[in-house]
Amino acid sequence: MAKGTLYIISAPSGAGKSSMISALINRNHDLPAQVSISHTTRSARPGEQNGVHYHFVDKAQFEHLIEQGAFFEYAQVFGNYYGTSRFTIEATLARGIDVFLDIDWQGARQIRQQMSEVVSVFILPPSREELEKRLKMRGQDSDEVIQGRMTQARDEISHYDEYDYLIINQNFDEAVSQLQAILQCHRLRQRAQALKYQTIVTDLLVNESEID
Ligand code: 5GP
Repeated sequence: MAKGTLYIISAPSGAGKSSMISALINRNHDLPAQVSISHTTRSARPGEQNGVHYHFVDKAQFEHLIEQGAFFEYAQVFGNYYGTSRFTIEATLARGIDVFLDIDWQGARQIRQQMSEVVSVFILPPSREELEKRLKMRGQDSDEVIQGRMTQARDEISHYDEYDYLIINQNFDEAVSQLQAILQCHRLRQRAQALKYQTIVTDLLVNESEID
């Protein structure tokens, strides 16, 4: 069985990456793909559930997991730790399931150093104004936090050129379709298809003299 593909999706906070990944998975129920649930030391926002949006842990627990080598990658973002579980990712990919990582540029760099076969996508909002509007509309953060996120957004965006693909999320449906196109393109690669359709290929290559 072919291993699953690891997709890294990064974007400044508020660019819509989480909604895009959810929409992509909802549109394609039959896709063997899942979103990785990170560990974080930040507090849950209203509506966020432990084990669904994140595994919420405290700093001591997170640092203990670092010592155990439990993270494939981890980074500090906005003063909090965020990390991806090594075991879950490796086990899921081994089952032929694609995994989406919604992580920042620091994590993306660490993953690329450990794995060559990753596909990375950077999502941009159409403008600074639109990004600020979207952050305010979420109504989940204070003005101070939003201004901090705007500064961080610039920093995150400055790494867009480290990624394989770039999507501008101006029209949500179009942006999701573009993400889907990247996925489809990747699934149609010769090696992946040849493995999936081994019987067809073998049959088509049978020598005339072998057919009775
Ligand atoms: P938020 O607090 O808004 O959910 O996420 C803040 C930032 O942390 C986002 O850019 C998100 O992609 C990033 N992030 C979430 N989980 C991880 C992770 O496991 N590792 C890394 N490196 N970044 C993460």
